[in-house]
Amino acid sequence: MQAILQQIHIEAQALFGRGHVASYIPALAQVPPRQFGIAVALIDGSTHAVGDAHTPFSLQSITKLFTFVLALKLVGDDLWLRVGREPSGAAFNSMVQLETEKGIPRNPFINAGALVITDILTSRYAHLDIALLGALRRLTDDPDLDWNARIAKSERDTAHRNMALAYFMKSYGNFVNPPELVLDNYCRQCAIEMNCAQLAQATMFLANSGLDIGTTERPGEQFLTPEAARRVNALLLTCGAYDAAGDFAYRIGLPVKTGVGGGIVAIVPGKGTVSVWSPELDAKGNSVLGAFALERLVQLTGWHHD
Ligand code: GLN
Repeated sequence: MQAILQQIHIEAQALFGRGHVASYIPALAQVPPRQFGIAVALIDGSTHAVGDAHTPFSLQSITKLFTFVLALKLVGDDLWLRVGREPSGAAFNSMVQLETEKGIPRNPFINAGALVITDILTSRYAHLDIALLGALRRLTDDPDLDWNARIAKSERDTAHRNMALAYFMKSYGNFVNPPELVLDNYCRQCAIEMNCAQLAQATMFLANSGLDIGTTERPGEQFLTPEAARRVNALLLTCGAYDAAGDFAYRIGLPVKTGVGGGIVAIVPGKGTVSVWSPELDAKGNSVLGAFALERLVQLTGWHHD
């Protein structure tokens, strides 16, 4: 595995310069673009990492995976009264479908859907950032895991479109809390930072029928039921890369979640997880080197047709 990752690292570097770092969140535009890290965590407890796999990055939309899982645990199938589970085929921050579909977002991973999920969690937790960090600190075994206040403020100061989405949904009765409050929580959530090795570890429960494998100090924990884990993976496969979900399924064929910080996490059910990070994005907001690395990884390991 280590040799495969080293080969991918070398090949991927040829793609530097093909994308652009996200700039609509001003603080993200300052991230040095030419970085690349990849980590693979396997169900046997081993982790393999190369490049900048221990450099923390902004999770951004990857956090939508964790908030969705928390909401599913809290409210179960009632969640589907407020958000759909179909790919949108539109940009992650698009507004067009919301009008014809009467304020019900297509899925929990586009921004409108993620805002509804954060609205649900805002009703349940007085301090959502603490609750979310608590779960993520446990999954990563890192008590220092945190959100980056500078990035959260930078997004919050410029969150005009997300605020518009929230108000639009409120006009249809699909938003409970004040949009300002939910946007505060949403921008903190998106600004949580992890490195590739931590992200691979934190998502291990999705590769392992809902069971987090734990560590030598901490026993494993059934984080989700096996059936719920299977369903989360189905949604990640069909909706995790927004309007590139079809292309990702074709090229990679694994459940994934991407973020504009340049991170991508992929689940290999029954085997492990892969987390890759490189800040340069394509036109749809997905990491150029990240998608390439995952494509090469499934080619070199054969994981896609096992
Ligand atoms: N915080 C970002 C936003 O709401 C997340 C988007 C993303 O990572 N695709 O625009």
